[in-house]
Amino acid sequence: MRTLWVNGTALEGGGKPIDVIDPATEKVIGQAGQGNAADVDFAVDAARSAFPTWRSTPASVRAALLHQAADRLRAEAETIATELTLETGRTMRKNLGYVDWSAQCFDYYAEIGRHHIGRVIPSPENSQLSLVLKAPLGVVACIVPWNYPLLLLSWKIAPALAAGNTVVIKPASYTPWTTLGLARIFDHLPPGVLNIVAGSGREVGEHLITHPDVRMIAFTGSTEVGQHLMRVAADDVKRLNLELGGKDPLIICADADLEAAARACVWGSFLNAGQVCTSVERVYIEAPVFDPVCERVAELSRELVIGPGIEPQTEVTPMIRAAERDDVLEQIRAAEAAGAQVLCGGKIPENHGQGFYLEPTVITGLAPDSTLMVEETFGPVCPLVSVADFDEAMQLANRSSYGLGATLFTSDAAKVHRYMREIEAGNVWVNDPLIDNLAGPFGGFKRSGLGRELGVEGFEAFTETKHIHWEIEGGIKSWWYPWS
Ligand code: NAP
Ligand code: MG
Repeated sequence: MRTLWVNGTALEGGGKPIDVIDPATEKVIGQAGQGNAADVDFAVDAARSAFPTWRSTPASVRAALLHQAADRLRAEAETIATELTLETGRTMRKNLGYVDWSAQCFDYYAEIGRHHIGRVIPSPENSQLSLVLKAPLGVVACIVPWNYPLLLLSWKIAPALAAGNTVVIKPASYTPWTTLGLARIFDHLPPGVLNIVAGSGREVGEHLITHPDVRMIAFTGSTEVGQHLMRVAADDVKRLNLELGGKDPLIICADADLEAAARACVWGSFLNAGQVCTSVERVYIEAPVFDPVCERVAELSRELVIGPGIEPQTEVTPMIRAAERDDVLEQIRAAEAAGAQVLCGGKIPENHGQGFYLEPTVITGLAPDSTLMVEETFGPVCPLVSVADFDEAMQLANRSSYGLGATLFTSDAAKVHRYMREIEAGNVWVNDPLIDNLAGPFGGFKRSGLGRELGVEGFEAFTETKHIHWEIEGGIKSWWYPWS
């Protein structure tokens, strides 16, 4: 069994161990320790006790420790990627990339932490020095979902630790395995600086977010849980960073490179079986090119190789669990019953006895208010919609309660310029969806979240701002007695 990691020591955890399941085989790959409320208290106490020393540790020393973590991740990339593949179902090739990217995240924030400084501002009096300083917050709760257990965690703990905070990590119940294994990557940090408590959102998560000594909640997950966190955080006015759901549009103009656009739909909708917060969820295509684009997207989708992530030829991997798969399947059935046409996919593939597979599904003729067009679809579904022109596409793209990402395919700079200004999304792509760059901010508008991760913004999110007024020359000031 993999144990929890608290105060620099392995801890069995007071909860019932969690069976970790491989979505490709439905087999148990191992057991993960589960914490309870007492384990959370222990972890938060350890993090709070470690905070003053970690805050005072020179940034250069913290940076060296984070670079070391990056090196350890790279050295164990093969093992970690294999574990991620077994636990999340996604491809080995992608997971190797994500381990490397996570390592880059530690290297990046190690340096941001060393170089990010406050500023000196003009003072009201010449005898004074006015400074703006950035300070760490204290104990940060880092709560992540199951779709990218390592990457989304790195986006939180790398900047949080670099800024001088200490952390308590809660992985998703489906994917505690790789995360608990990270204890060996971080065992060179002082005890209490990084703690990992696996367990359910209901018990462990809830106890963590309501703990009065937790100063900030850094969360990636569903909008529903994010809304709950905002309500809970109000009691202590806890700081929040929320990366929530999305319903990303992709617009294809008639002047675009249509082959690239069709392939982008396939890639953007079916990567990780559509279980990506920024997956392409609504495609708006200008009417003159609608039919050929639909045909091409369906043709490319039919050719995709479905299978376990561990096999090198696999392109589309299973979904996380049967319940999630069946939920998406039900939405497809409801759409069909209402008159939508499934161009390809739409069912559980044959010849895959075990595993939570769903065929990549391309669908047209959806009613604008259907669940597949309105709510986040966390599965391999690509809905295609014909629009009269770019104007209509822009209107429909923005008509959503979400605003995480958006993509435009066009060769017209004037359209790009208007889209850049008017699209209501935090991650705005042109001719290449889902591309990420950790040197720039990631996050959403509207119900897709609050705050930003990555980039300098993703470091500042883990700091508080202090304005220092220092009277250097001293003496008694005339304005101290305004009543006299
Ligand atoms: P989820 O149900 O919101 O769970 C996310 C995490 O929160 C899990 O660790 C979960 O624990 C925990 N949790 C649940 N209830 C809690 C509570 N009351 N207090 C504290 N923690 C609680 O999301 P999911 O189903 O795992 O992941 C899918 C969602 O994540 C999608 O909506 C997707 O869009 C979103 N996502 C967003 C981004 C982004 O960057 N914007 C990236 C990836 C995914 P349990 O596992 O025990 O339930
Ligand atoms: Mg989807």
